[in-house]
Order: sequence, then structure tokens, then C-alpha cells
Amino acid sequence: MEYKLLNNGVKMPVLGYGVYQVDPAECERCVADAIAAGYRSIDTAQAYANESGVGNAVKKSGIKRGEFFITTKVWITNAGEKAAAKSIENSLKELKTDYIDLLLIHQPFGDYYGTYRAMEKAYRDGKVRAIGVSNFYPDRLIDIFNFCDVKPAVNQVETHVFQQQKAAHAIMEKYGVAHESWGPFAEGRGDFFTNPVVKAVGEKYGKSVAQTALRYLIQSGVIVIPKSVRRERMEENFNVFDFALSPEDMAKISALDEGESKFFSHYDPSTVEWFMSIVNSQMGK
Ligand code: NDP
Repeated sequence: MEYKLLNNGVKMPVLGYGVYQVDPAECERCVADAIAAGYRSIDTAQAYANESGVGNAVKKSGIKRGEFFITTKVWITNAGEKAAAKSIENSLKELKTDYIDLLLIHQPFGDYYGTYRAMEKAYRDGKVRAIGVSNFYPDRLIDIFNFCDVKPAVNQVETHVFQQQKAAHAIMEKYGVAHESWGPFAEGRGDFFTNPVVKAVGEKYGKSVAQTALRYLIQSGVIVIPKSVRRERMEENFNVFDFALSPEDMAKISALDEGESKFFSHYDPSTVEWFMSIVNSQMGK
């Protein structure tokens, strides 16, 4: 495994396993399979309703807690200092652990400054080893960076070969915030797994589209957390450290960048309204 040194000295694996859209009933089995395949970094969130499955699999693995790197995220319905603090305690309980390796604000909506203060307190209290943000575009990232005490260590944003976030990456580098990708395969959008350019590059190294795309991001300084519920794909996605893309092949994949989301933009008012409708229904409004 290769590691990224975060701005507070904590080492984070550059490859982990994500469990968004993993059925809570299946999560423990999936994470156990991922651990058997070699993953030690697991990315979950309060909103995924499967923190408990992650905690069970880690606990039952028999592997020392210190070998794992567990990430979770505070959801919008828990925004604000008091609610976020309570939700962090709940995440610790669900994950069956004394500490979280990386805690992120999931979305830049609601009273996320209050959320961040609760995260800073959890960090100072030793309940969290690193704190950061997710879905913070450059404007939000620079703002929170300048109005907080504990600087965000990580920003997790949509990043894949079609949306490479080159400008945002430069800002993250400038501020010493590690760039983590969500959706490294764009969840298959844009005929991802049959892309002819990535396929042709991968064939030269005897690697699949998935492996080549992950390798591209890792070589670009981006942390990746691919998701799969299938053991053979977990193994495939983990097997990306025995080759390196040449500068020419990196350039070919770099040229695939469309510079826009395959999902939605957080700058789009309809996206914000969509998030608010989810939050309102979750809060029974
Ligand atoms: P990914 O881009 O990782 O794509 C997952 C999809 O790709 C699934 O349909 C999976 O199918 C398929 N797949 C996985 N491996 C292969 C392979 N080798 N060959 C072919 N198909 C494959 O999407 P995610 O949205 O899950 O992103 C990864 C993680 O990022 C999430 O699990 C989550 O932890 C995080 N995330 C965070 C967000 C945020 O707002 N902070 C938003 C979205 C994700 P199958 O499972 O059937 O194998």
C-alpha cells in the first residue's frame, strides 16, 4: 500500500473501499470481503446507514484496530455544533470504535460551521485523528480553511477521468488539503468501463479499465475509494500497485477530462433544492 501524508502528520492509504449504496444488510459481508482482499481503509457515512456493518466487519476481522483507517461523514440533518457532536458519538457507537481516523462534513449545506466546531472538539478530545470536508468546491474550501482552527486535512469530491477537478486540485494543493475522489468510476456513467482510450492504455499493461482509471488518479496525487459488492472486483480494484503509467499514457487519459460533473453541480440551485428536499423528508417536514 502507498500512503498520503496528511497535513497533520497522519498517514492515509491512497486506496480504500467505499460503501455508498451498499445495502446495510450486506455491508458486513462486503467489508469482510474487502478486508480479505487487502483493504484497510474503509469509507462510510452517517447517511449510508451502514456504519454498523463496517464496525462489525472490522471488529470480527481479528486484525488490530490500528491497522485500519476508517472514514465517516456527518450528514446535513446532524448539522450544527450540538447535533453534530451527538451524531459523532453515535457514529463511534455504530462503528464500535474509540476513534474515527477521518471525519468529514458530507455536504456544504446547513450549519456546517457548527458541525466543523464539533469536529474540531472531537479531534482535540482524541476521538478523531483527522478532520476534513467533502463536496467543498474551491470557494467553500478557501472560506472554511480561513475561518477554522484545525485545517481540513482532506476534501472528498467527485473525481474520475471525465471530471478530473484539475483547477480544484491545484487549490487543494495550495492549501495543503489532500484530494480524495468519490465516484472514481463515475458509477459507470459515460460508458466508463468500455472507454476506448482507457481500455487501449490498460491493455499495454495487462490491466482493466477499472485498474487503469484508478492508477491514473493515484499517479495524479488523488486518493481513491472504489466501491464494489463483488469480491473479484474488489480484488481487481486493489491490484493497482504493480505497474506505473508512462507520461505519454498519463497525457492520453488527462485529455479525457470534460471538466464537468457526470452527476450534478453543487453550484446549481436545483441541486441545492434537491438536497433540501431529501433533508426535509428525512426530518419529517
Ligand atoms: P464508483 O465510481 O466507485 O462505482 C461503483 C460502481 O462500479 C458500482 O456499480 C460497481 O458495481 C461498479 N464496479 C466496481 N468495480 C468494478 C470493476 N472492476 N469493473 C466493473 N464495474 C465495477 O461509485 P461510488 O459512488 O460508490 O464511489 C465510491 C465511493 O465514494 C462510495 O462508495 C463512497 O464511499 C464515496 N462517495 C462519496 C460521496 C460524497 O458525497 N462524499 C458521493 C458518492 C460516493 P458492483 O458493486 O456491482 O461491482
